[in-house]
Amino acid sequence: MTAARKPASSTPCLRVSPSGVHGLGAFATRDLPAQALLGLYEGRRYTAEQVAARKWNDQLTYLFMLSNEEIIDGGKGGNATRHLNHSCNPNCEAVEEYDEAGRLELRFQTLVPVEAGDELFIDYGLTADDGSSPADYPCHCGAENCRGTMLDLAPEAEPHPGLVAR
Ligand SMILES: [Zn+2]
Repeated sequence: MTAARKPASSTPCLRVSPSGVHGLGAFATRDLPAQALLGLYEGRRYTAEQVAARKWNDQLTYLFMLSNEEIIDGGKGGNATRHLNHSCNPNCEAVEEYDEAGRLELRFQTLVPVEAGDELFIDYGLTADDGSSPADYPCHCGAENCRGTMLDLAPEAEPHPGLVAR
């Protein structure tokens, strides 16, 4: 069965531009209230087994793991949501929800009201299963409560979505 690749959906609230923190970033195109939808994190989906069996280019990671261990590669068929940078004091968050077909989706939304032109951030909650140390993933977000690394230092007992380093 060959499924036609769905074109990436538009994300009218996001503009991708050079970031003050790292590489490209995503910026609000308009004033937004808290809990405003920015877009769904899209891309090719992999099972945990497929991810383990695959060789990954570790230059750039857009792999987002859902709590059911499914992984979305935003680098393949993803939209502008993949350009949100990490902050330890983010103004946005990634929330899981089921669509009408019962498929788990990852919704990017604002946590707090933001203004047009603000750079948007989420906490990557990065996990690395290769024994990397927090210093391998330094954070330069500049937040007062910066924990110094993009790694999730206190993984919750509950499975939760987060970026995975490969
Ligand atoms: Zn930080």
